[in-house]
Amino acid sequence: MPSDTDFAAPPFPPGHVWLVGAGPGDPGLLTILALHALKTCDAVVYDALVDERVLQLARRGAERIHAGKRGGKPSPSQPDISDRLVRLAREGKRVLRLKGGDPFVFGRGGEEALALVAAGIPFRIVPGVTAGIGGLAYAGIPVTHRDCNSAVTFVTGHTAGGDVPDGIDWAALAKGAPVLVFYMALKHLATIRDRLIAAGRPASDAVALVAKAATPDQRVVETTLGACVEDAAAGVIEPPAIVVVGEVVRLRAGLDWLGAATGRVLTADPLGAKRARKAG
Ligand code: SAH
Repeated sequence: MPSDTDFAAPPFPPGHVWLVGAGPGDPGLLTILALHALKTCDAVVYDALVDERVLQLARRGAERIHAGKRGGKPSPSQPDISDRLVRLAREGKRVLRLKGGDPFVFGRGGEEALALVAAGIPFRIVPGVTAGIGGLAYAGIPVTHRDCNSAVTFVTGHTAGGDVPDGIDWAALAKGAPVLVFYMALKHLATIRDRLIAAGRPASDAVALVAKAATPDQRVVETTLGACVEDAAAGVIEPPAIVVVGEVVRLRAGLDWLGAATGRVLTADPLGAKRARKAG
């Protein structure tokens, strides 16, 4: 099978499963390996979060199987999905398991891969651009910036059962890193805000809500910890969305490259560093 890139991609043998990250939306963020898998697979088993434009890149004859896992909606159980992957592989198919973002970041990729190990099915992992990094970059927000933070924490806003994760040490989380990136956080945003403020994060902390990042429907609301719940509602922020807390959010005034393409004037000094230095 000829590759449609010059890159000598590894073979995707029949009976193998590739667990592949599809990135946050924009098909341009796919890896070359992801594109290779889309072009050579016999079956693609995809999540609700996988962008339609990415799916359209799948080989015409490939079987498409929706394994829509989305909070609140009925969806196949995790064992059902894993069984499906095993069955398709045993039928001798090249099985592409396509997941939004990166398969190993809040994506249950590890669980599915372990089910393949248990069944003796050979597999490959293809990382993807995760929403909490690449999605924020599409909003003009770097997850680290030398003047702001030398650590970042990724957190899930709810458990498999839909509750606020009780295993989180909120006091440690609030103090642990200047920048906190929450996945799946909209449902419990008020609780998250309350716990962070109770644990010492100021209500004035900068927050951005980034919905449908890297898609034509991307929406970004810049707010504060204190005001984020009301502003999420007012700005009509709908899932999927990333919530980022920390000073890096202020860099968006300088780095909103998508906004600049439609006329936003960017500042080269979004943190006011030069002013602060002069004043000091
Ligand atoms: N494996 C995925 C995360 C799956 S958990 C990844 O690495 O990105 C699902 C959560 O991911 C959503 O609730 C949301 O918080 C986030 N997410 C995924 N795609 C997104 C997008 N395009 N824009 C904003 N958030 C997104």
